[in-house]
Amino acid sequence: MQVMAKGGRRALRGYPPGCESLPTTRSTLSWGLGRLSRLRSLPLLLAIVTVVVIIFWLFFALESGGGIDGNVGKHQVSHTSKSISASQVNHLVSQVNLQHLWTSLLKPMLVERYPGTPGSKRTREFIVNQLSKQSADWRVELDTFEDKTPFGSLTFSNVVATLDPKAPQRLVLACHYDSKYFSRDEQGREFVGATDSAVPCAIILEVVSALDQELLRSKKQGSEKTLQLLFFDGEEAFKEWSDTDSLYGSRHLAEHMAKTKHQLGAFYGTEIQAMSLFVLLDLLGAPEPLILNHFSATSYWFDMFISIEKQLHRLGLLQSHPREQFYFRKDISYGPVQDDHVPFLQRGVPILHLISTPFPRVWHTMDDTEENLHPPTIENLCKIITIFMANYLHL
Ligand SMILES: [Zn+2]
Repeated sequence: MQVMAKGGRRALRGYPPGCESLPTTRSTLSWGLGRLSRLRSLPLLLAIVTVVVIIFWLFFALESGGGIDGNVGKHQVSHTSKSISASQVNHLVSQVNLQHLWTSLLKPMLVERYPGTPGSKRTREFIVNQLSKQSADWRVELDTFEDKTPFGSLTFSNVVATLDPKAPQRLVLACHYDSKYFSRDEQGREFVGATDSAVPCAIILEVVSALDQELLRSKKQGSEKTLQLLFFDGEEAFKEWSDTDSLYGSRHLAEHMAKTKHQLGAFYGTEIQAMSLFVLLDLLGAPEPLILNHFSATSYWFDMFISIEKQLHRLGLLQSHPREQFYFRKDISYGPVQDDHVPFLQRGVPILHLISTPFPRVWHTMDDTEENLHPPTIENLCKIITIFMANYLHL
């Protein structure tokens, strides 16, 4: 990811052009009104037509999503969270296991894994294998494609895991599993990108492991909201960050999902329209992260992260956490950061960007290693995200 240069906001402007069909609608309406004016009972008919039009408009705006913007509005307005009691919070948090996260999930991914390397293949297979071990029965797919890079054409592969493909709404948890390409240093050390983004991948895998039984139950009950996990390949630039040398995986997947109809049928729109919230994790694992609110459209959900952090602090469930509001802050701002959410944001998906800003001290250095991680912070973040998932998905 990269902090955007001044004046570089154009890439983040958001929604695609649309609504070009208004003139057609207007001419159809005036044709109809011309015919009606020949009738004597015009006022009564006009009133009836107005009521019918309003009923149809409300029906289509609320039920069909009415295009990308309508989709965003629908989910933002209608989705509510469920508050969880202290005893449930204690129970769910007790299922987060730092030892498991560290030894079984994180360590195997701390290898050089830029696209095309053996480490990339092993990490991808490792993620798929971890998901297949869950009892929640995830549908796991690979989105494999080729793209041009400064080093010629390369193959990339995103991992897409969906708990219940038939559920109309999806909460997305995303991270990138590739590491940035650096040649080895004088001591022969390779770049393993611990915070960037092995830790976010391990946190996501630990969250779904901690909530495995709850997710299984939610799937069996046919809940309207389900969970989707995206592990992107090729987030990093090979040379200089640019529109074509970065975000290879997320650009490809967003384009693909915007064209793919939801499994339930055309009435439910595309796969991208099914995303009610997209939570991206990046650059996490160093001590004292500052996670800031980047999008006013999703402040409601950012506020929930603030409340969960406070609640877990008050319940004494967080380690090395001196104040009740320590990570999630709304009173500090920071410029937009280009990352894997951008291709989805541009297609109208509501985004929460959980990234440490300023970036960790070790960012894009050979010191972004296991030794420089802060285990209590990782455990705390994992607990907070677990409770957020339970809240959002009504687990
Ligand atoms: Zn990076």
